[in-house]
Amino acid sequence: MPELPEVETIRRDLQNKILDKEISQVEVKKESAIKNEIEKFKQVLSGESFSDLNREAKLLVFDIEDSDQVILSHLRMTGKYVYDSGTETEFPTKHTGVIITFENKDKLYFDDIRTFGYMQIVTEKQKEDILSKKLGIEPLTDSFTLENFQRVLENRRTNIKNLLTNQQAIAGIGNIYADEICFESKIKPDRKVPTLEDNEIEELYENIEQVLQKAIDYRGTTFRDYIDTAGESGNFKKELKVYNREEKPCYDCKTLINKVKLSGRGTHFCSNCQQ
Ligand SMILES: [Zn+2]
Repeated sequence: MPELPEVETIRRDLQNKILDKEISQVEVKKESAIKNEIEKFKQVLSGESFSDLNREAKLLVFDIEDSDQVILSHLRMTGKYVYDSGTETEFPTKHTGVIITFENKDKLYFDDIRTFGYMQIVTEKQKEDILSKKLGIEPLTDSFTLENFQRVLENRRTNIKNLLTNQQAIAGIGNIYADEICFESKIKPDRKVPTLEDNEIEELYENIEQVLQKAIDYRGTTFRDYIDTAGESGNFKKELKVYNREEKPCYDCKTLINKVKLSGRGTHFCSNCQQ
């Protein structure tokens, strides 16, 4: 599943391609791909262009020129955007739900094998409502201060991995980066939040930003279905220290990396380096 670094990589790639191009045609191949009535979706986009592409945690936000409406898009498990300037041979597929054609004949495909992802046209006001309800503080933004992070941890009784992956607490971190952040912070993922010392919280805070920023620099991590809009895999996979490395020696101490189930999710850690 794409996490913050993967969605940011997609955003940066797409932004260079789709902005300020007039949309000449909108085809909805699968109703499940959009959360609007098909006719409304087409009507709002036809003849318009995208004026900006932003990201709120794992959501892409497409601004529409001269409109108070935007498209929110969540990729969920397997959603992907593919930009086709006439050379694409693999797409569209039978899983392509939306095809947007620009005036220069380039196309943008929204493709989703498992169909949990979506595009949704909403007003700015609806967008704010959705984001404030759904999303907690977001790393790599101005609001992600140590103070705000400490506040998020207050009165939480869960373990730190659960908290890191709770989108309503901290937005953008999933299974892969939660494991990596815990490793870099030398904290076991099953540690209960109230047991964390001040210096451990500071470590976590710093490593959240460092791990995510490094992953963005490497264009994200690739497992199974994620490819970026250029059809390329992310390069962060070989930088992972614990995720997907069970039974392999820890890079720091040679202890074999453990994998356990924590709240139903595969969780990786070094039992020697992490306390
Ligand atoms: Zn170790």
